[in-house]
This record gives sequence, C-alpha cells and structure tokens, in this order.
Amino acid sequence: MTDEAILPDLYGRWLKDCLSGPIPAESQANCAHCVMLPLPGEAAPAGFYFEPAIKCCSYLPELHNFLTGQILNAQDPDMQAGRRTVEARIAAGAGVTPLGLAPAADYMLLYRHSRPAFGRSKALRCPHYLEERGHCGIWKYRESTCATWFCKHRRGALGQSFWRDYLQPLLAWVEHSLALWCALELGFELEALRPYLTPTQDGETEGLQPEQLERRADPRAQKRLWRHWLGREEEWYRACARQIAELEWQQVLAICGPEVKAMARLARQAYERLLDHRLPPRLEPAACELVQIRDGTLRISSYSALDPVEIPSAILPVLHYFRDCKVREAIEAIAEQENIRLSDDLVIKLADFGLLQITTDREAEEPPDPRPGGDNGASHLE
Ligand code: SF4
Repeated sequence: MTDEAILPDLYGRWLKDCLSGPIPAESQANCAHCVMLPLPGEAAPAGFYFEPAIKCCSYLPELHNFLTGQILNAQDPDMQAGRRTVEARIAAGAGVTPLGLAPAADYMLLYRHSRPAFGRSKALRCPHYLEERGHCGIWKYRESTCATWFCKHRRGALGQSFWRDYLQPLLAWVEHSLALWCALELGFELEALRPYLTPTQDGETEGLQPEQLERRADPRAQKRLWRHWLGREEEWYRACARQIAELEWQQVLAICGPEVKAMARLARQAYERLLDHRLPPRLEPAACELVQIRDGTLRISSYSALDPVEIPSAILPVLHYFRDCKVREAIEAIAEQENIRLSDDLVIKLADFGLLQITTDREAEEPPDPRPGGDNGASHLE
C-alpha cells in the first residue's frame, strides 16, 4: 500500500520534481472502493451519497492533444475500452480541435446548473466512465481536474485547497501551454489556431448554435480548421503525445512561461503547508453544520458537504475556549476546567477540517508551535 498520491505517470513525474517530494495519498478517497456509496443497510442522509453507476464521474473533461495522443498510443490491453471512448469523441467531431477534445457546450451549460445532480444523474456522466467495470477508462491519462479532485481529504480543507487552488490551476495552465507548444513545434497553420490561443473559459455560455446543441461539427469549419490534417486527427494527436513524452519538469517550466513558473512557486508553498503538522499559535471556533447526532458522537460538516467529520460529542461545547487566547492556553484551560485533554493531533485536525480556524490578524505575529510531524489518520476524530 503506497502512501504516495497516484497521479497519471506524466503528471506524477513532473509534480515530484516541481515540489521536490512525493505528495501524500488522499487515502480516504478510494476510487476502487468508492466511499461515497452507502454501506449495506446504512441509513443515509438524503442527497449525501453518489449513485454506484456514476460515482464522482459527473464531468466531461477537456482532453488536450498530447493526452488524447497518449490514450490513442496506449498499448495496454486494459486501455482498449477507454481508448474506444476517446475514438468515439473524435469520430463525433464536435469540439475536436488541434489543441484537443473540448467539452461539449451544451454539456457545460447543464453541468454549471446541476450541482445537486453531481454523482447522481446519468445525464452528467462522463463518456469515459466504463459502467461495466465501475471505473474510468482513461484513468492513467486523466487530465488536471480529474487528477486533482477528491471527495475526501486527509487534511480536510487544507488538502482540498492544495489540490483545487494550487495543483489544478498549475496543471491546467501546463496543459494549455503544452498543447499549443505541440502545435507550434509540429508546424500547425497558425491562423487556424488563432481562436484557441486563450485557455478555456469556464464562464456562462452565451447562446448555443444549433450544431452545438446537436453536438455535430460543421464540415466546412472543420476543413478550415484542420487543413491537411483533416481525416488524420488521430495521427495528429499521436504526434503531439510523442512531442511531450520525454519532457522533464525544467523543460516544461521553460516552455510554459511566467504564469506556470509563478504557479509552481505557489504550489511549493502550499505543499510545505500541507506537510506542516505544527500547531498554529492561535485558533478560533468556525462556523460549521451539525449533520447527524449518533451515540456519543456528532457528524459535522464544515469545509465540504462530501467530507463531514465525526467528533466525540463532548468536544464541540469546549471549542469556545480557543477564542481570544493562545492555542496552548486553550488546551490547558480545557484540561483544567472541563477535564478533557485535547491532543495536538486532534486540535490540528479540528483546524484542518474547519471546526477551528486560524486567527488571521494575529497569524503573522507569532511563529507556529514547533512539533514533529504526525500521522494524518482519518476524518473520524477521537
Ligand atoms: S475522465 Fe475518468 S476520472 Fe475523469 S470524469 Fe471521466 S471517467 Fe471520471
């Protein structure tokens, strides 16, 4: 059992160099044994769990040219079914460009307005999800959003922020920049690429054309776009994959420009915070939502409705001790006056999961409490 995050080979190799170390696995989010499905006989809160035939694959990813090519080039017999889903997208023609496979505009419109249906409606299910196998058909080559999304995080809000706010944007910029670089290196007609020279915007779609609603490509537009590559789109994507196959992270940085350099620095800082297990000097109670009362425990939702934590019932009423005093003083006061000894691990987890929050105005004044690193454990707090 590895304690290192399982990323697509290419991204895993680059991020290890970028961060100068391995990323701890999000072991609470187990895609092989989905933790977002109810256990047999379990009384599930309404709208909490996913549908088994969908799981979290309620998404239609953009597959940039080199990722598409990697999937087409994959020789592994296990990849055959997944490869066919990509071939089907290419054959359909809509959103098929020299930079990759763009998500259909009508899907994105639906997706942005269907938050409660995430994980629960087949209308949103990804075409690369293989229902008969119960998992993703292109997992080894999944793109930035799929590679960085987890339903649960060992370090709660801190972990979610690391993946969502730092690694995903970094990889998304890398994807866009490298897709364009491949096209330049391979001598694609520049004028044809002009409409694609900015990253995909995730804003509201401004009215859909009939062909977008019907997900068909306009043959004349495709001919103008693809020029002499028309009909050889798969060959093009395979060539793009070969362009990036051997790139090292330093080469990626040199190709991708200042945005990616800046994001890589920010990602390194976020990585250091992720690995930092010291007590913050000051914390205060944060807003959270009581989801369920069980025997002696409370299930509480804070940073994400998908990742509630369970804490002993006695803990919640003592969190007010953290207001207006240092963390160490609060821990001692709780021990003396309530006869409850909170371990450093537990206080850090309360902060990670957003039941306590760092007091920002005093954050810069005091250094964190030095303390050796510890195990992250699960989201069940004791
Ligand atoms: S590409 Fe794979 S991981 Fe991503 S949404 Fe589709 S099936 Fe799920």
